[in-house]
Formats: sequence, structure tokens, C-alpha cells
Amino acid sequence: MTKIAFIGLGNMGNPMAANLVKAGHEVNGFDLLPENLAKAEKSGVFRAENARKAIEGADAVITMLPAGKHVLTVYEDILAKAAAGTLFIDSSTIDVASARVAHLMARKHGHLSVDAPVSGGVVGAEAGSLTFMAGGSAEAFAKAEPILKPMAGRIVHCGDGGAGQAAKICNNMILGISMIGVAEAFVLAEKLGLSHQALFEVASASSGQCWSLTTYCPVPGPVPTSPANRDYQPGFAASLMLKDLRLAQEAAQTAGAVTPLGAEAAQIYALFDAMGQGGRDFSGIISLLRGTTK
Ligand code: NAD
Repeated sequence: MTKIAFIGLGNMGNPMAANLVKAGHEVNGFDLLPENLAKAEKSGVFRAENARKAIEGADAVITMLPAGKHVLTVYEDILAKAAAGTLFIDSSTIDVASARVAHLMARKHGHLSVDAPVSGGVVGAEAGSLTFMAGGSAEAFAKAEPILKPMAGRIVHCGDGGAGQAAKICNNMILGISMIGVAEAFVLAEKLGLSHQALFEVASASSGQCWSLTTYCPVPGPVPTSPANRDYQPGFAASLMLKDLRLAQEAAQTAGAVTPLGAEAAQIYALFDAMGQGGRDFSGIISLLRGTTK
């Protein structure tokens, strides 16, 4: 049994912490929202009155927060209070620069740290089947891996500090661009009088094949489990896709990478979000391309 502090018990953090409890760990949780704390308590998480209390005696601290500024604020608050050698795992999706600062801060206080963002969404968090993309030293990763296991389907060590966040935003940039590409093809097919099913059957067995088509098809019918079949209820909300595409653009600008399609995808999702559609699944972008909201 490991004593784990879990800070940030929102849509993702709550089920992740519940899976740690199920695996036999002692989990002390903190969130700013009392209702999220109450929900976690029902899964066996011990409620702490603040982040400092949550980390008392903890072997590992997991954060699952909205953005880099939240992670750095929480780290400022607790790093000096944690016992030397505590393992810090940040599973939030944050900008690469903040992730690197978080590692430096942790190291300065004598702690081990891993950035370990996830893909798989709330469904993966509930099922304990998230993919973790981890960045940090071999020593930190070796300690983090068994802790992540009850929440994970797959855990990949991507490299040093920040490499997990880098992998996450590169992957989601591919996803954002490819979803727009697939949606454009269906809109063109509609105009040409080609049925959705015919395009799907050809493209899914041809060079247009990709996850956005075969698992997450943006039109109803060909893939019955895709969000298109339930009026684009997420799934993966367009606002979160926009967040990740913006993080990718920030990183591309800092690193000097040329990513014109990533930039265009960010603009397209920003427009969709501004139209009040950010809560819909990101595959709903097809409606923007059609010029409708359906
Ligand atoms: P959420 O908004 O539901 O949860 C974040 C929680 O952090 C909230 O409960 C909030 O009260 C809490 N919080 C904020 N500041 C805090 C502080 N200083 N101390 C304690 N608690 C604090 O968000 P979420 O959907 O759970 O996402 C969390 C992270 O996971 C984000 O970085 C997101 O991008 C990433 N992510 C989300 C999904 C998804 O499908 N929801 C998928 C992959 C990755």
C-alpha cells in the first residue's frame, strides 16, 4: 500500500483516485470544490481540508488540475512541506514550459517528479484504461509506474521532464487535424452525392484510413459507437481539443516548429467554441464545415 495525495478531483481526478483506492492504496484528496470532495469520499478517498494536509506523510502526490498555472501554484504551496524524496506526478495536460518549471521546482526541493498526462478521457479514467505519457528520470519513472498501473491501460516513458506533455500535444495535434480532414471529406462526399457508408467502406480500407475515421467517425452510421450517433455528446469536448491545439501552438512557437495545419486547426476549433459549441464532442466540427449547427 502506498500513501497517495490526490489534488484535483474533477471529472478525471475523481475516477482516477477511486481506482487507486480500489487497488488498495490510502488516498488523501483535496479539491477546491466541496462537491468534488464529497464525491471522492464516497469512493473511499479521505478528505483533506487543504493541499498541505493532503500531502502529510504521502509517498506520492498526484495532481490533476486544469492548467499549468494551477499546477505551479499548488507546487509553490506544497513542495517545501513534503518529505524529501516524495514522488510528484502531474497528470494534468499543461504547457511544456510549465511542466519543465514544475520538474525544476520539485528537484530543487529534493523530490522526484514525472509529468504524466493522459489520453482516454472520463471513460478511460473510470475504466482504469488511460494511456499515460510520462516524462522524467528513469528513477522517477520506475517509482511512478506501479502507482499509475491501476489507472492505466498503457504507460509509455517518453523521455526526460516535459516529454510526456510534448507527446500528448503532438498526438492531439494529429487528432485535431485528422478529424477536420475526415469531416471535410464527408462534407465533400455529401455534395457529390456519395453516401457516408460508401466513403467509409472505401477510405477505411484505403490510404485515408485513420482513427478519426474508423473509431470516431464524424457522421452517424458507419461506426455505431462514435459520438456522431448520440448527437455529438462528448466523448472529448471540442473545448478540450481547442485547449490542446493551443498548447501545441504555444510549444511550436517557442521551439520554432512550422505547423501550419496545427495553427489552422486551432483557428477552426476556436471558431466552433465561439459559436457556443465547445461542450459538444470535437467530431461535431463537421457541422461547422457544413455551415449548420446540426
Ligand atoms: P475538471 O475541471 O473537471 O477538474 C479540475 C479540478 O481541479 C476541479 O475540480 C477544480 O476544482 C480543481 N482545482 C483547480 N485548482 C485547484 C487547486 N488549486 N487546488 C485543488 N483543486 C483545484 O477538469 P478535468 O476534466 O478533470 O481535467 C483535468 C486535467 O486533465 C486537465 O488538464 C485536462 O486538460 C486533462 N484531461 C482531461 C480529459 C477529459 O476528457 N476531461 C482528457 C484528458 C486530459
